[in-house]
Amino acid sequence: VTLAVTVLGSSGMYATAERAASGYLIEAGEAHIWLDAGAGSWRNLLGVIDHRDVDGIFLTHRHPDHTTDVFQAFHARRYGSATPLDPVPLWAPAETLERVTAFIPEVEESFLLRPVSAGDRFATKGVHFSLFRMAHPVDTVGVRIECEGSTIAYSADTGADADFEGLAGRSDVFICEATFQDSDPLWEGHLRASQSGEIARRVGVGELLITHLPPWRDDRMSLEQARAACGEVRCSLAFDGQRVEVKT
Ligand SMILES: [Zn+2]
Ligand SMILES: [Zn+2]
Repeated sequence: VTLAVTVLGSSGMYATAERAASGYLIEAGEAHIWLDAGAGSWRNLLGVIDHRDVDGIFLTHRHPDHTTDVFQAFHARRYGSATPLDPVPLWAPAETLERVTAFIPEVEESFLLRPVSAGDRFATKGVHFSLFRMAHPVDTVGVRIECEGSTIAYSADTGADADFEGLAGRSDVFICEATFQDSDPLWEGHLRASQSGEIARRVGVGELLITHLPPWRDDRMSLEQARAACGEVRCSLAFDGQRVEVKT
């Protein structure tokens, strides 16, 4: 089995011509899990797989730059063929599910609503998920994804006060937000690129992808600052369409 992640959106806050807002496709064997559904990630998803092959959607928190394309999937599942497609799981913190159903209650016809909390562990189609509380102003979970000994970890949006050892320790690939740069004031709800690099070095990851890159910042500066802090860890900028495989 190959555990793989394809970046569907790597922009922080809003989509640009080059980058959709946050989104990732996790693949392991026959399993296809869509992780965060920021604006534009749906279009990028369609470039990678048939949306009918998505086995479930996971939203890390309720902020719009991580959620709004879930309604694209709803419309496609509900109206895209003669009969609506069978529902698939939609995992998210309870407050996120409340917001989604407030927009349109009929999402329950297309999704099996699965509220999740930090500390939860569950598996679907041989892929194991462990959830961690992240440091962000709304209820936000980071995700450790494991399949037959391979691990991909995703920070979602977070500041520095979180259990990164649990989330990403000894992971093969750590997808970590890097919203700020060293010239920005420190803020508890997001990381500077240098903090992302320092965390990756401290918890020992195989490879660091920095993401949630804000459109108004020079990405290469973020990469330089992350690399200066991450020691021997391989570090690169996430980009839409990028696929990283971990052999299990
Ligand atoms: Zn965000
Ligand atoms: Zn957020």
